[in-house]
Amino acid sequence: MSALPVPADATLPATTAQLFIDNEAVPAQTGQTLPVVDPSTGTVFGQIARGQRDDVDRAVRSARRAFDGPWGRTDAAQRGRLLLKLAQLVEREREPLARIESRDTGKPLRQARADATALARYFEFYGGAADKLHGQTLPYQEGYTVMTLREPHGVTGHIVPWNYPMQIFGRSVGASLAAGNACVVKPAEDACLSLLRIGELAAEAGLPPGTLNIVPGLGAEAGQALAEHPGVDHLSFTGSTDTGRRVAQAAAAHFCPVTLELGGKSPQLVFADADLQAAMPVLVNAIIQNAGQTCSAGSRILVERSIYDATVAQLAERFAALRAGPASADLDLGPLVTRKQQQRVWDFLSDAQASDLRFAAQGQIVDHAPSEGFYQAPVLLADVPIEHRLSQHEIFGPVLIVTPFDDEAQALAFANGTDYGLVAGVWTQDGARQMRIARRLQSGQVFINNYGAGGGVELPFGGVKHSGYGREKGFEALYAFTSLKTVAIRHG
Ligand code: NAD
Repeated sequence: MSALPVPADATLPATTAQLFIDNEAVPAQTGQTLPVVDPSTGTVFGQIARGQRDDVDRAVRSARRAFDGPWGRTDAAQRGRLLLKLAQLVEREREPLARIESRDTGKPLRQARADATALARYFEFYGGAADKLHGQTLPYQEGYTVMTLREPHGVTGHIVPWNYPMQIFGRSVGASLAAGNACVVKPAEDACLSLLRIGELAAEAGLPPGTLNIVPGLGAEAGQALAEHPGVDHLSFTGSTDTGRRVAQAAAAHFCPVTLELGGKSPQLVFADADLQAAMPVLVNAIIQNAGQTCSAGSRILVERSIYDATVAQLAERFAALRAGPASADLDLGPLVTRKQQQRVWDFLSDAQASDLRFAAQGQIVDHAPSEGFYQAPVLLADVPIEHRLSQHEIFGPVLIVTPFDDEAQALAFANGTDYGLVAGVWTQDGARQMRIARRLQSGQVFINNYGAGGGVELPFGGVKHSGYGREKGFEALYAFTSLKTVAIRHG
């Protein structure tokens, strides 16, 4: 039985996607389900099993059996081969995976295709890295040899949000499997179909039963149960700052190490000597990609005053030309993921109106967009004071905030002046300033004269301050998914 309602195109049968445990599709023990809603139309097109505490427990036990059994005995080179095979299968299934994702999340098809490509690339990167992760020998006293061993934690838990299910799954599960762990994944209740299909592909690639288990369900039920489960040895959480705090507290009760990839209010600093022509499409894309529902969205632009009016005018021209519509229409933006997310953005925009903020430009929702879809036209807000709620909080929608600054010191103070610190962009031709600012920005990543670096599978990623701690992506992630053991041998 397939885990999925086989959504290879836009007309899906209304069947139930099951949990994926021990390489098998199984119903939730309670038999309960949750609806799957198409954000482009607001209609229900399927059901997913509603995993709960008992299902999570079953998945963790299955992962433990795999770790103590066949998967734990699989050597690093073979783990790498299996991940490379999985990368090939994802490439083979790129189009149906993209269509599932696009229907489930509302993201335009080409963005969903890019996510599927990135997913394959994560498995390829970590497949190649699996047998290159090793400990060291250390100088110590005469008569000793001391070495470090990099060992998998055992069972790792992965709590995934709805905005980039495939990419976030790839970066965290790919690294964890490469390091030799067995995984239990809790996808977001609003977007889990693509991940259930990837579970099937992992089984087809040859991962032993229990190596990768996927339990969809509500955050407060399946998510909380996974965070609290004493059989989980490491937890990766990607999601909002408030939930991250709860998850870290639950994990702390059983001393489970956690990687927290949380929210952001990422600034781009544009100095008077910037190449504005090069910057402009990047500044716009950094906020409209995935309809602004991106943790690293460039959601604030800080502009040196002497070029402020010209920059806002150019941004406004581009914003007015942007189009939002159904995911299948593949426009600049799709709908937001849920009615709840749409309401959240509306609340921020009502606040902007109540505060008399300047709406410098707005894009369009196309006429043929279904009226029940969760659409929001992109909005450009100018002259927003740094202390305003819209400058301080993550909106998670296509709303760009622009604020002028007078000098480098003020630009830095504004950039660092929120609780977050995930990503920052700096646009200037002055090499000394580039380095000065890169060092002083409180941010996990800094991009100079570019932003986002095309997804950056190879580039360590993570936040400071309320954006979280720990790093995923790149080789660095492998360290988080292992623990270091020191072995000291006295041989005289
Ligand atoms: P969310 O925190 O509501 O949910 C994320 C995941 O946590 C979901 O799977 C959800 O079911 C689960 N969850 C909810 N409550 C839980 C609980 N009590 N215990 C355990 N799990 C629980 O976040 P969201 O709305 O799905 O995603 C948007 C947020 O994620 C934004 O703040 C965004 O910035 C952040 N995000 C961060 C990154 C990053 O890498 N830093 C990437 C993507 C998204």
